[in-house]
Order: sequence, then structure tokens, then C-alpha cells
Amino acid sequence: MRHSSRGREPGRVRLSEIFTSVEGEGVLFGTKTMFVRLAGCPLKCHWCDTTYAIPMDSGVDLSVEEVKDRISQELVPNTYKVNFTGGEPLAQHRAVIELARFVKEKKGVKTYLESACYDSARFAEVLPYMDIVKVEFKLKDARAVAGGDRNYATLVKNELECLRMAAEACKKPYVKVVVTNSSDLKEFTDLVRKIFAVTRDIAGFIIQPSSKVDEPVLERLFAFYDAVYPYYDQVRVVPQLHKVIGVR
Ligand code: SF4
Repeated sequence: MRHSSRGREPGRVRLSEIFTSVEGEGVLFGTKTMFVRLAGCPLKCHWCDTTYAIPMDSGVDLSVEEVKDRISQELVPNTYKVNFTGGEPLAQHRAVIELARFVKEKKGVKTYLESACYDSARFAEVLPYMDIVKVEFKLKDARAVAGGDRNYATLVKNELECLRMAAEACKKPYVKVVVTNSSDLKEFTDLVRKIFAVTRDIAGFIIQPSSKVDEPVLERLFAFYDAVYPYYDQVRVVPQLHKVIGVR
């Protein structure tokens, strides 16, 4: 699947928001994190909790230099990382490259890419500027892509390729999969086999229960956990911490 950022002028960013909070997801949950949320996502997960950032024309239009200034003004001491998120950050990958380089070189803070990895070519361009990478895999019941199994297979192919590149670049990627009570165990098990055929050199495997939408019961979570454990005994079921403690 390809997505164009046609219409976005070079040097400009469609920004949804910048804020600092507690990282609520994944292996680095609990770290003080600046979130740089870019507007626009070509996917349409039905349980998306940032729907306001999906439209490509949401947020505000700023120059890259203006966003750098915002980052400088709002960066607080002891920030562990700057998280480029969305929306989908790869939809504006050139701006992400410029901003990530600025964060690393001028601010000395770790960079982190939170992506659904729908475009491995764009991912390859962004990867050198990221210290930490999350590769999120979508199950069919996320309804992330329209158009049936062929588009879904293309999405998974891109996600696997991104994982391979991140592992080869020694970025210690971690894997996240959101599961609902309706997620298909066989599909999940097949996906897990494909993931570990690509690499076992990951920083974590997070099974994230959906929140407020078709939430999985414990038996279902154990079934997904058991599918991963034979490959990777550090698998974790981790809900979104920020929702538990009531912060954004
Ligand atoms: S990829 Fe992320 S931002 Fe895009 S629809 Fe899915 S959950 Fe929402």
C-alpha cells in the first residue's frame, strides 16, 4: 500500500499536537515522553483512539522550523524520549526525518518511532534517525485497510519488512499487536510464526488489549499469550497505562 503526501509543501508539517506525558504503551511504558503527533493516517482502525488525527487536513499547518521551536520550548528536563506518533508518522516521513535529526543532534534526546509500518520504503528512510522503533502489526479485525485480503496481505508484508530492517539495523525493535475479543487466534498464530521467522532479536512482544471496544476476556488474552510464549518467553500483556492513570 502506498500513500502519497501530495499537497504537502516541502518544509511544512501538518501537526496535530505536542505534549509531554507518561508513555502509556509498550516496553517503555512509564517513561517521561514528549509526544509529537503528526496529523494524517491512511489506515482506519475501528478501535482507533486518536480519530481526531486521522484526516490528512486535521491539525495545523506549520513550517518544520516552527515545530522545532515548539519542541525546544516545550521540552522539559529528564525527558526520556521524543515519540513521533500520529496519525501515522510515515505519512509525513520527510518532516519526521528533519525533526528527528533535530531532536537527536541539537537536543540530545532519544527518538522513537511509533508506526503501523504501512510503507517499508518510507520506513527505510526514517530508520537511521530513530533510536527506538515500535513495529505494530494489525490483525484483520482492526479493519485498518479496506479492499479485502489482498490489501491486508500488503500491509502485513510491509510490517514484516519494516521489522526485518529494524532488526538488521540493530534498533532492537519491539512488536505490538492490539487484540480484541473477536481477534482470530489462528490468524494471530500465523502472524506470530511469520514475525519470528523474520527475527527473534526483539526488545519485547506486547499484546495490547483493546480499550472500551470489544475488550478481550482473560481466557482470550491467555490464548494469544500462549501462541507467542514458545517463541519468546518475555511476551507481555500490557494495557494502555495512560488510560489507567487518567492522563492523555
Ligand atoms: S494506524 Fe493508528 S492512527 Fe491510524 S487509524 Fe490505526 S490506530 Fe488510528
